[in-house]
Amino acid sequence: MSINEQESIAISYKPLEEIGYPYPTFEDPATLYEKVGQVGEGTYGKVYKARNCKTGQLMALKRIRMKTEKEGFPITAMREIKLLQKLKHERIVRLQEILVSKGSVYMVLEYMDHDLSGILGHPEFRFEPAHTKSLTKQILQGLAYLHQMGILHRDMKGSNLLVNNKGELKIADFGLARIFQKNRAGDYTNRVITLWYRPPELLLGATSYDTSVDIWGVGCIMMEFFIGKPIFNGTDEISQLDTIYQVMGTPTKDIWPSIEELPWYELVRPKEHYENVFRDTYKNTLTPGALILAEALLSMDPKNRPTAAEALEFDYFKTEEPEALLPANLLNIADDWHDFESKQRRRLQAI
Ligand code: ADP
Repeated sequence: MSINEQESIAISYKPLEEIGYPYPTFEDPATLYEKVGQVGEGTYGKVYKARNCKTGQLMALKRIRMKTEKEGFPITAMREIKLLQKLKHERIVRLQEILVSKGSVYMVLEYMDHDLSGILGHPEFRFEPAHTKSLTKQILQGLAYLHQMGILHRDMKGSNLLVNNKGELKIADFGLARIFQKNRAGDYTNRVITLWYRPPELLLGATSYDTSVDIWGVGCIMMEFFIGKPIFNGTDEISQLDTIYQVMGTPTKDIWPSIEELPWYELVRPKEHYENVFRDTYKNTLTPGALILAEALLSMDPKNRPTAAEALEFDYFKTEEPEALLPANLLNIADDWHDFESKQRRRLQAI
């Protein structure tokens, strides 16, 4: 695609002054980005793959649409920008700069070729066991850093875990992330985290929670690597809980002492009692080390889940073969695989 005015994004400084945001380091204001294509559909706008016309470098431009000037700058976007500016780690997507063009603000992020949801939706591509180990490890390394920085991600899922062709994974999308006070569970909303990756305490109405909500999500994603589909895929909150109980067993006071204190415990008390069948169901699909780690990550009582740093010390990573290996063979899959493109391809196939 050649550079053309409409497809390029010009920079102006004014709206950033209006939102009173301290400037990050700007490049030469004459810099233009050429849009290569759309790679994502975000909550407040589209995400584009774009090329920096001066350096030729590929970047992701996350557009933050402001419908009217009166509505102002979305608070979630502001939060995400502020958090990302503080975060510098190889497992966290890097925010390079902020641009403004025609009433929209763009976050310029390092470009990642795929996201996990997109790759898992690929019709042929499959990860080797050493690759899934590496990806799980990288997610936990990113989370360990976030949690140590006092940040809860609160939206762990495949489409927020970006992977480049070198097999490096980075956590993205901090729109729902929150700063928490260490050693104190905060009072938050429980309407966070996409249903399939939402832990039982949130489904039971907890508004006070901690880093263990992100750990449950890692357990779900790790299982998805092994079984090729989401492990708990309910259609609403009640069926999500039921799906979880059918595998992990209906929680009782014995295994989760504080469960009765949760706001919706009585309201959604299950009629049937299920036994835990996790080990039996997956003992032939997961290696022994993977089974122990996944079971711990998916502990019903959040207090029993390991922290990200503790999870990295499990035998699965430390002693069990094979050793973790970056899935660098991603270089071989043609095209970029993000959740957005994956869904588009499926739609086209259905026609
Ligand atoms: P939202 O916060 O609005 O949900 P996300 O940050 O999750 O938006 O981005 C939506 C999608 O765009 C992601 O699932 C991913 O596929 C794609 N995307 C986001 N950031 C990048 C990036 N840095 N590189 C490549 N693709 C990205």
